[in-house]
Amino acid sequence: MSLSPLLPADALAANFAEIKPPLRPQEALVEASRCLYCFDAPCIMACPTGIDVPTFIRKIAQGNPAGAARTILTANILGASCARVCPTEVLCEGACVLEDRDEQPIQIGRLQRYATDHVAAHGINVLPAAPPVRSGFKVAVVGGGPAGLGCAAELAQLGHAVTILEQRAQPGGLNTYGIAFYKLKPQVSLAEVRLVQSLGVELRTGVRVGRDVTVAQLEQDFDAIFLGVGLGASARLRIPGEELPEVLDALDFIAQLHTGPLEQVRVGRRVAVVGCGNTAIDAVAQARRLGAERAFIVYRRTEGDMPAYDFEYEHAKHDGAQFLFNAAPVAVVAEQGRVAGLRLVRTRVVDGRVEPVPGSEWVEPCDQVLRAVGQEKQVALLRGLFPDLVIDDRGVIAHDPLTGQTNVPHIFVGGDCGNGGREVVNAVGEGKKAAHGIHVFLTQDAISPPLQPSRLGAKRGAAGAGLLAPIRAHELEAALEP
Ligand SMILES: Cc1cc2nc3c(=O)[nH]c(=O)nc-3n(C[C@H](O)[C@H](O)[C@H](O)COP(=O)(O)OP(=O)(O)OC[C@H]3O[C@@H](n4cnc5c(N)ncnc54)[C@H](O)[C@@H]3O)c2cc1C
Repeated sequence: MSLSPLLPADALAANFAEIKPPLRPQEALVEASRCLYCFDAPCIMACPTGIDVPTFIRKIAQGNPAGAARTILTANILGASCARVCPTEVLCEGACVLEDRDEQPIQIGRLQRYATDHVAAHGINVLPAAPPVRSGFKVAVVGGGPAGLGCAAELAQLGHAVTILEQRAQPGGLNTYGIAFYKLKPQVSLAEVRLVQSLGVELRTGVRVGRDVTVAQLEQDFDAIFLGVGLGASARLRIPGEELPEVLDALDFIAQLHTGPLEQVRVGRRVAVVGCGNTAIDAVAQARRLGAERAFIVYRRTEGDMPAYDFEYEHAKHDGAQFLFNAAPVAVVAEQGRVAGLRLVRTRVVDGRVEPVPGSEWVEPCDQVLRAVGQEKQVALLRGLFPDLVIDDRGVIAHDPLTGQTNVPHIFVGGDCGNGGREVVNAVGEGKKAAHGIHVFLTQDAISPPLQPSRLGAKRGAAGAGLLAPIRAHELEAALEP
């Protein structure tokens, strides 16, 4: 039986409504008033972009959501998407001191969303007008995902001419094409891209570096290059039957939700997802929400070994996803040229290594298989394009973690291709750091000027979060106050 859409449009719209709805104004005021405005705010330390959380929450409590949005967006241009997708449980909210008092942490993500939604809904521009390009330097940003956007926005505000080259039709990277649809809609991601463009950044989509433009051309036309090319496709399973049409990369499956009407996404009635990271969890949960009667994860290790976050695991179980632990795929079973099942073998872990249990094979019926066993690193592409770049033994581009600078002095890196795959907020934070690294490289200034106020100053740099530069908090706070 071929795959088809399973649910009508209204059921799909309900299933893909946002899982964290926005706070109403009164709720936001009440929640903001719970904040203790800690002087050494651990929530700021926990944010890779160093957002001054207590300051923006205080502004919400004072009835100034636009001011709050300004505090957020000057530190993190992707503040609206981070408000929706950040694993706040393990970042800012996980660091909230209220947890130590056995109280609920402040809902920082939802407050951040409240402030950024407010300015988006009312068309309020809280960022400075596009600054004049005063430096005379030109920077190429390869990849229009969170890392590239974070870097480009910061560079533009530092007075450099920036051009983003993005291979896909739409910019935004995985924010536009990959994050679970019930967390982040592409419209929010694309609105953030427009915000970056409003700072004077040029965006060229449909341009693949290595195909449409050579690195030699970039090096001729630009003074520095930032690489924010992310990771590649999901790794292959390397089992017989993988070439069948109903075996898909989980990322391609998820991208369908972002690029066309939900009611046209083709899904199996019984869906097997191989892997147990956050991509696998997103895929299995979305298969269920698309109407799959059974959607199950196959993972070769134990429940305790799962790389997915606990809250994502709970969320998928809540959606009715099932989990087969200690099981590995051996072959995709076909009937009349179509997927009919997945042959599995029981596994056990011996001395840390997974091995199959002889004679324990069985077939789980399914009509679609999604591969989610980790994204491949872009090693071949990068080696082909930049033969002099050092790629470390994890398959990522080696660089100085404080500046993003690689062994080729005019090439900088950030985001998934430099960290091996983390979160949106890490990519934005690394893009920002690299922008300051590029600024210092181009201008030969000893330090790069801070763009955001901070009450924590150099401490943040020491922790590897936020900006590296020393902070003149009182001057900047006054200048930025709307
Ligand atoms: C399924 C899935 C769900 C996720 N969910 C979450 C979540 O809930 N919360 C969270 O914080 N993080 C999540 N992440 C992680 C997050 O999406 C990434 O960490 C983040 O997008 C990395 O940003 P990036 O800019 O480094 O890479 P990407 O977002 O991958 O962007 C890279 C960009 O570079 C472009 N590019 C690549 N090669 C070229 C080239 N040669 N020329 C021009 N352009 C090129 C690509 O087209 C792409 O647009 C998720 C990831 C996946 C896969």
